[in-house]
Amino acid sequence: MVCIAPEAVLWFGEDMSPVPLRNNKAAASAVRSVTVLGATGSIGDSTMDLLRASPDRYRVEALTANSNVQALAKLAKEFSARFVAIADASRLADLKAALAGTSTECGAGESAVIEAGARPADWVMAAVSGAAGLKPALAAVDRGAHVALANKECLVCAGDFFMQRAAKAGACILPADSEHNALFQALASGNRDELVRVIITASGGPFRTWKPADIEQATLEQALKHPNWSMGQKITIDSASMMNKGLEVIEASYLFALAPDEIDVLVHPQSIIHGMVEFSDRSVMAQLGSPDMRTPIAHCLGWPDRIKGPAAKLDLAKIGQLTFEAPDFERFPGLRLAFDSLRTGKGATTVYNAANEVAVAAFIAGKIRFGAIARLVEATLDDWIRGGNQGPMTSADDAINVDHVARNKAAALLPQIALKAS
Ligand code: NAD
Ligand code: MG
Repeated sequence: MVCIAPEAVLWFGEDMSPVPLRNNKAAASAVRSVTVLGATGSIGDSTMDLLRASPDRYRVEALTANSNVQALAKLAKEFSARFVAIADASRLADLKAALAGTSTECGAGESAVIEAGARPADWVMAAVSGAAGLKPALAAVDRGAHVALANKECLVCAGDFFMQRAAKAGACILPADSEHNALFQALASGNRDELVRVIITASGGPFRTWKPADIEQATLEQALKHPNWSMGQKITIDSASMMNKGLEVIEASYLFALAPDEIDVLVHPQSIIHGMVEFSDRSVMAQLGSPDMRTPIAHCLGWPDRIKGPAAKLDLAKIGQLTFEAPDFERFPGLRLAFDSLRTGKGATTVYNAANEVAVAAFIAGKIRFGAIARLVEATLDDWIRGGNQGPMTSADDAINVDHVARNKAAALLPQIALKAS
């Protein structure tokens, strides 16, 4: 079997110099110990499904959840997890009761979730939703683990700093987001100085063909009807606003040390091609597959080998047509704002993410219209740039501080945005 040379595929560092990653081939033990941060969510579920299929290959070190004690305890028992953490500190007694008679240790609160990331597992799935996943993911990064990164918000929030910490600790970041996993695979075809651009595909979401006035008024139910992917609530809403694609543009920039002009977005409603890389000779390498997150997760779980994936076999004859459109930055301003914040740099992407989390929560709570999500993000970014308080981020606390400032500002701007018609 041909093994991808890891140093050929991931780059980071200010000067975009290649940073070799450790090849885990020698380091991987026969049985790989695994931790899943966000085990009860959609990505967590797909990851547990893959672990379930290969009980001889993986052992579960730690699992975490936000507040669903019963689901977490059920997984802990099924996989004989050594440690479980529930983020909601008020649920510790319930968790202890649910685990009575087992040898699984448990903890509660943010520190326990961070401890889960710090426990000695070879491979960690970072699948908490939102910036809340930053510190637990960093705990895994800092001990040089292989970290499969689904939690794009934590990377967007922490920016370059996250990748610098990974490089320093010798951690290996494996992109689990389908588009970035596709790029990760396609990038192996060339070197950094041969790269022209990467292309991230987007389904366009449920409002791809809608008029602006209808997008403005879209309901929660309509936003939650994704045409191709079954995912958690937050990312499904982000897909409808195309903020998810915006987060992914930023994610690609940090993961692969790409300038904004080296990243293109292409709307591809069938979600079969997940990402492409163009090289200097005009060769374009693409990764294809059925829209099933278990494929990129399986790629991360087996890396640098390949394991068996349970997704449906790709039947292109049956699909018949693959179509493409340019993205519409007017109807989906969230995508434009992502490029703007990336060009602004120095914490603007942290603000972009924080304001979007506040806006999505407000939309779910019925406080703002769908169209106001992007307006709140834009107003928060404008305010922050006007304030001139941009600075380098050198620690998790710096990132979390900017995140808090932006959340407070977004919350303060919320009432006037809610009142303002488009
Ligand atoms: P989800 O809402 O289904 O699950 C989130 C998980 O995180 C749950 O286990 C939840 O209990 C836990 N969690 C939530 N808030 C927490 C907190 N404050 N502290 C600790 N734990 C908390 O979300 P998901 O769809 O599985 O997405 C997870 C991450 O993966 C997101 O960052 C998302 O953008 C990314 N992602 C998801 C998909 C997908 O197909 N679902 C695809 C690509 C990337
Ligand atoms: Mg994606």
